Amino acid sequence: MKKPLHSKKEQFLLSSKGRLIGWGAADVKNLIKNANRAKAEKLHEKNRITIRDAECVFALEWLDSFVEKGITKAVVEKLNSRIAHVRYHHILMHSPKGKPYWRYVANGDQIDDPELCIAYGVSHLLASGALDGLKKCQVKDCQKFFIGRPNSKWCSKSCGSKFRVRKQRERNFNDYLL
Ligand SMILES: [Zn+2]
Repeated sequence: MKKPLHSKKEQFLLSSKGRLIGWGAADVKNLIKNANRAKAEKLHEKNRITIRDAECVFALEWLDSFVEKGITKAVVEKLNSRIAHVRYHHILMHSPKGKPYWRYVANGDQIDDPELCIAYGVSHLLASGALDGLKKCQVKDCQKFFIGRPNSKWCSKSCGSKFRVRKQRERNFNDYLL
């Protein structure tokens, strides 16, 4: 497993309406849930969708490209082309344990549309290592995203047994042909 590029303290925060918002494990879960929802409900094929639905579609597109292409230079450049204009403040943070420390805080007011919002969130999760182990279920009619071990192939136990049953059926069929 790759090590996260940034330690927790170095992660970028988002300032929105005077509040500081960080990124954590819950964001990965939501991102994956949204992408899976977009896939299950075929949101990308619909003509009219809500902003929430649009976020799900963008999440699906990014996760698909990560799984299909890997984190290539082109993928990183595409992410940068979306988020590079966002301005950051360098803010000194108080620490109850000792000396204060610096953090970059993005201007949340500039992150105001669903495409940008998802590109920004995805970039953080990538850089923090939170998307390490991102996989797509290998059961054809599932293909849900999940975070798994390097050798895991299915999103759930039920998909695992589905896969094995189908493989067995294929094998029996081939035996029959022989
Ligand atoms: Zn599955």
